[in-house]
Amino acid sequence: MPKEILLDKLANLAVVIGANVQKDQIVVVNAPTQAAEIARKVTKNAYKAGAKKVIINWRDELAGRYSYEYETIETLQDIPQYSIDRMKYFVDNGACVISIVSPIPGANKGLDSSKIQAAGIASSKALSFYREHMMGNRSQWTIIAASNPIWANKVFPNLPEEKATEALWDAIFKASRVKEDTNPVEEWNNHNSTLIKHNKVLNDFQFDTLHFKNSLGTDLKIKLVDNHVWSGGQEKATTGVVFNPNIPTEENFTMPHKYGVNGKVVATKPLDYQGNLIEDFWLEFKDGKVINYDAKKEKSTLKNLIEFDEGSSYLGEVALISHNSPISMANILFFNTLFDENASCHLALGRAYPMNIKGGTKMEVKDLEKLGYNNSMSHSDFMFGSEDMDIVGITKDGKKIQIFKDGNFVI
Ligand code: ZN
Ligand code: ZN
Repeated sequence: MPKEILLDKLANLAVVIGANVQKDQIVVVNAPTQAAEIARKVTKNAYKAGAKKVIINWRDELAGRYSYEYETIETLQDIPQYSIDRMKYFVDNGACVISIVSPIPGANKGLDSSKIQAAGIASSKALSFYREHMMGNRSQWTIIAASNPIWANKVFPNLPEEKATEALWDAIFKASRVKEDTNPVEEWNNHNSTLIKHNKVLNDFQFDTLHFKNSLGTDLKIKLVDNHVWSGGQEKATTGVVFNPNIPTEENFTMPHKYGVNGKVVATKPLDYQGNLIEDFWLEFKDGKVINYDAKKEKSTLKNLIEFDEGSSYLGEVALISHNSPISMANILFFNTLFDENASCHLALGRAYPMNIKGGTKMEVKDLEKLGYNNSMSHSDFMFGSEDMDIVGITKDGKKIQIFKDGNFVI
């Protein structure tokens, strides 16, 4: 087992820096059963930080598989009122949310993907109010990760199960800046100030377009919305409380213009979606929309992702990460977005973040859409950064500024 002290430090980091739990706040912990140990530590730390009440939402992915297997599509699409009311309670009472991810790669292998798709769409529709609340940063939320033997085996296939699980914990701690001999809270305060500096430089340029190119065949122009905001690291909820949505995080990201993306992008890491691994894929865009794509593995899963709804065939996020960032240098494929997206520049198909446009968190969706915001029920990041990535920013008056050279920031 990993050292108690590191687990406790990670749990405390999630509470203090991640969600920044406030006195007398309700805390919701989303936890899969394989992450029970860290979920309990998060609970304890949340109470210690002054939480009024901590509610754990347990789920079991292996049992969940049976519901896809045995329930009819109609039953899967029926979202009971009590589960909607529960989320309404969280929203109405200003709860903050700490989610623990501990993926089981291939958990849904062999299942009817149209059933998974239908259940996902029904639940997304019924809970859209909750998603808008959290994505609009109306309360604090954060995501951390926990190792488990099945995930660890995928990441370290040559190690015996127990060693692999330890090695994955080790990688999670390192990536999350949790070490035995330092104070992770202090480390995160320093890290945040570096990310904020990068945001400022990019915000000051207010680039019209970013042009990405590398030797793998990526040649993509992304127009950014006017008055876009580069974010990354710490964020501020509309309640005024600062929080860190992702532990770890290395990215500076902003909002592409929904209809302003043209060219081809080649993915550089596999993508885990609906429990399946999409590998070696590329996408081609015209006026923002995916018009052509292919994948060597799981093309039908990629199709599900792109065709989830209207917005899922358009981009909602562009993120820059130096090739020499710590997670990238660790050179481990985690098969999980929380980590892999921080190892490489990435794009997201689907919903954009309202905070990436000036005043966006206070705007209605229909007004955001007029400015080039992409709305969707899904948001799926995929990685396309490489060690030879070249990014040029084109200003509104046509000046070209080198942003990345050979995979790294040069501004
Ligand atoms: Zn991102
Ligand atoms: Zn994203």
